[in-house]
Amino acid sequence: MPPTPRSARGGPLHGGRSSTSPAPPAVRPRRVVTDRRGGSSHPPYDTFNLGGHVGDDAGDVAANRARLARELGVPGDRLVWMDQVHGTGVAVVDGPVDGPLTATDAVVTRTPGLVLCVLVADCVPVLLADPVAGVVAAVHAGREGVRAGVVPATLAAMARFGSRPADTTALLGPAVCGADYEVPRAMQAEVARVAPAAAVRTRKGTPGLDLRAGLAELMTRAGVAQVVHDPRCTVEDRRLFSHRRDGVTGRQAGVTWLG
Ligand SMILES: [Zn+2]
Repeated sequence: MPPTPRSARGGPLHGGRSSTSPAPPAVRPRRVVTDRRGGSSHPPYDTFNLGGHVGDDAGDVAANRARLARELGVPGDRLVWMDQVHGTGVAVVDGPVDGPLTATDAVVTRTPGLVLCVLVADCVPVLLADPVAGVVAAVHAGREGVRAGVVPATLAAMARFGSRPADTTALLGPAVCGADYEVPRAMQAEVARVAPAAAVRTRKGTPGLDLRAGLAELMTRAGVAQVVHDPRCTVEDRRLFSHRRDGVTGRQAGVTWLG
């Protein structure tokens, strides 16, 4: 007797095309944010440094990246890294990439199992997902990226795959908070021209930037359905890497994939 054909997801009981809604996508967007714990690196990169450009031992970084892949249950070559330059360059990937993407601050894919990684230590990791179109993106959004529009550029790249803001959600990962991010007044004004909500006062009462508030404002204005905040401050939380607090240090990663 031949095996009975079955739908992996348990489709309609009766055969034929459904005249109602299409089947849900077989994969769903996943997100992870790493912290300092659980790695091989020595001070000042202790211990789970994923940044390959910060002076850490290459073998330790490779071991940490291999552990990340293992924990996520993917082969190591499925991790996609960017050579981030505080720009607005968006790359689209559809398979494993050899080495970091050159001069790239956002990466988009609709290929399941390809793990997009953004490295940060105060800048905002933005993880975008449209489960309807089946598209995810990882974005590096620091002060310069917010000002220059890296997130709108990424949404535009996602739109070329049929993604719509109304179906898109965003996670804003750990970053320096506005109370701890003092900037000159002119610099604050530059960012506020694009994202007014970013202009705040620091705990000292001086001009500050809350990049996540600015990004949330930008994305809400663009029609993004939901913006979720990971409220942790990298400067205040010692389980996170902070360049502003420590100078030479490691990088954590915001990670997203379709799995
Ligand atoms: Zn803070």
